[in-house]
Amino acid sequence: MTILDFMPPTTVSSNYVNGQWVPSASGVTFENRNPANTDELIGVFQQSNAADVDAAITAAAKAYEEWRLVPAPVRAEMLFRAAQIIAARKEDFARDMTREMGKVLNETRGDVQEAIDMTFYMAGEGRRMFGQTVPSELRNKFAMSVRQPLGVCSIITPWNFPMAIPSWKIVPALVCGNTVVFKPSSNTPLSAHNFVKVLIEAGIPKGVVNMITGDADVGTAMTTDPRVSVVSFTGSTTVGRTVNQAAASTFKKVHLEMGGKNVVMIMDDANLELAVDGCLWGGFGTSGQRCTAASRVVVHEKVYRKFVDAFIGRAKTLVVGDGLDPKVDMGPSNSDAQLQTVMRYVQIGRDEGAALALGGRRLESGSYAKGFFHEPTIFADVDPKMRIAREEIFGPVVSVIPCRSLEEAVAIGNGVEYGLSASIYTQDINRAFQAMRDLYTGIFYVNAPTIGAEVHLPFGGTKSTGNGHREAGVAALEVFSEWKSIYIDFSGKLQRAQIDVEQV
Ligand code: NAD
Repeated sequence: MTILDFMPPTTVSSNYVNGQWVPSASGVTFENRNPANTDELIGVFQQSNAADVDAAITAAAKAYEEWRLVPAPVRAEMLFRAAQIIAARKEDFARDMTREMGKVLNETRGDVQEAIDMTFYMAGEGRRMFGQTVPSELRNKFAMSVRQPLGVCSIITPWNFPMAIPSWKIVPALVCGNTVVFKPSSNTPLSAHNFVKVLIEAGIPKGVVNMITGDADVGTAMTTDPRVSVVSFTGSTTVGRTVNQAAASTFKKVHLEMGGKNVVMIMDDANLELAVDGCLWGGFGTSGQRCTAASRVVVHEKVYRKFVDAFIGRAKTLVVGDGLDPKVDMGPSNSDAQLQTVMRYVQIGRDEGAALALGGRRLESGSYAKGFFHEPTIFADVDPKMRIAREEIFGPVVSVIPCRSLEEAVAIGNGVEYGLSASIYTQDINRAFQAMRDLYTGIFYVNAPTIGAEVHLPFGGTKSTGNGHREAGVAALEVFSEWKSIYIDFSGKLQRAQIDVEQV
């Protein structure tokens, strides 16, 4: 008998459509289990289908007619209330998240905090959402631009930031006056439910936010329906490409945030202790399951050996285990599939001839037996052409690559298909600025690892990481609104731009 045998039976969670909690038309459900202990059933959720998506889009399209007319400061007040409610429940939400996602409690607290920050920030936008007023070239004519909402937004999210990422998308969509159909990852539906329940409690009217749980067929319906104006997707580059193609024929605005293979560059004048701290946090935080994870570390040959030894020494001390245990530094992979990917890449690294300097094995004995645990793993002397140095692994595997100069480090840094985040450790301001200019990424850090974004600056990447949009900050408003330019002629006569030119 374990404590789990005494727990009450798990209730089945519903979809949320048109202000009602409803079962899926499919009548099918799926289980959500703890990746640290698969005996623990966290909940049962709806395996939805295209009929559910149709109902949700119908509700969202109807609700849009009224929601778009609610003044933005009034919409924002609801969001402000939502942020307060999340703040009050931060600890409970973080614990739920650790149980379904696996990352340690300090990190899930950070995830919830990010949702709080973003919701407060976007509530502030309700009283700004600045447009432009410009002088007209004609007399007695007024010219300005305003943001207008687009309509129904399909929001599709991954499992690694189960509350932060939904908030990055849903909250700016709402403050701009759009309505939402939201599909979270099936690996982390509980945090999505927690977030949507807060929005309901904060007073968001029926039909404005709808949530459907399920997999690719739900996503396909959400990206092809002609009534949807915006698709905002975060996930893998492979699925992002499918989403982009699915949405193209109906000319939706498509916002994609996808994979990464981020680089830390360590120069010969770097504070090595600080760099080791950063590489541990960047490489093994969230078990490497961050789009911004520092999965490549390029080190100047003059300090290479010293860095590698120190990095291995510190990584050895990381405690792996259940994220609810305060002594634990690193939780499990989120799913068996993710763990299998990690193990496959470790084998690829060995086959490619990289030096396995630490870890490399699944943890299976004792308390690890029922979870998806893997050792923190470091490959040294990695050639930048190797697959482990180029492809996203999304696990606790870091490749260390030697280099001879800043120029070579930058070339290695840029030499992958992704362009999310990069960082440099150096005391030389000239090198820092050169790297800042030359790394073609969406995010750059100096003397800090590749993770640590704050909600009020744009977040996103270049190349196969993104398609030119950004989330967070004012940039998110660009995704969820479009410009309307307005000219008001109060001259009482026909005035022709570019033709009735005043001579000076
Ligand atoms: P994934 O691509 O497998 O799934 C993402 C979402 O897409 C899920 O909700 C999934 O159900 C849905 N989906 C699957 N098939 C679909 C389809 N055909 N049409 C529409 N939706 C579909 O990604 P994941 O495993 O959940 O997340 C990990 C990936 O997310 C990594 O590649 C990581 O780098 C990326 N990520 C990127 C960022 C960023 O901001 N750039 C942030 C977090 C995670």
